[in-house]
Amino acid sequence: MKIICIGRNYVNHAKELNNPLPEAPVFFLKPESALLPKNHPFFYPDFSNEIHYETELVVRINKVGKNIQEKWAYTYWDEIGIGIDFTARDLQRKCKEKGLPWEIAKAFDFSAPVSRGFVMKQDLPDPENIRFRMELNGEAAQAATSKDMIFSIDQIISYVSQFMTLKMGDLIFTGTPEGVGEVKISDSLVCYLEDQKMMELTVK
Ligand code: MG
Repeated sequence: MKIICIGRNYVNHAKELNNPLPEAPVFFLKPESALLPKNHPFFYPDFSNEIHYETELVVRINKVGKNIQEKWAYTYWDEIGIGIDFTARDLQRKCKEKGLPWEIAKAFDFSAPVSRGFVMKQDLPDPENIRFRMELNGEAAQAATSKDMIFSIDQIISYVSQFMTLKMGDLIFTGTPEGVGEVKISDSLVCYLEDQKMMELTVK
């Protein structure tokens, strides 16, 4: 399986990092080794001094597809979860300055914790307006709704599938809203989808 991550998909997040708004979805990959095993803490990696959290809705692809038309994209996913796109912002900044790929900043081991449970699309109050949030040490850190995305889930699926075949079990991180920030050792992150607690993580 592969993990596809969308960058700059919320206006206010693009602004907070001084990035231009994209004309098409920007995406990159994380390998399967970026998943965090069940009940494991996130160990702060020693190659970075600035690890940021990015809380994101995560879509699971349910069948193989290529060149998917936007109008049919909804049939390629029926479950949504939540994840953290951990980012070594210091390394990413250096990569960006030099025009280098982002892998060392984005694709490292355990950089993509995903909730164990997913919510079925039909169980959402409104699939066009999926609310999610993350609390850092008990305080609101990020909150948004899928309505605020620049590119919708269906547009993302259609776009990405022009370039790479999507397969059952692939995960798409759909981008983070504003409010990204640093994590420190001993921080606790709790993620909610609608009002359901989906994932709890500790930084060690
Ligand atoms: Mg992200």
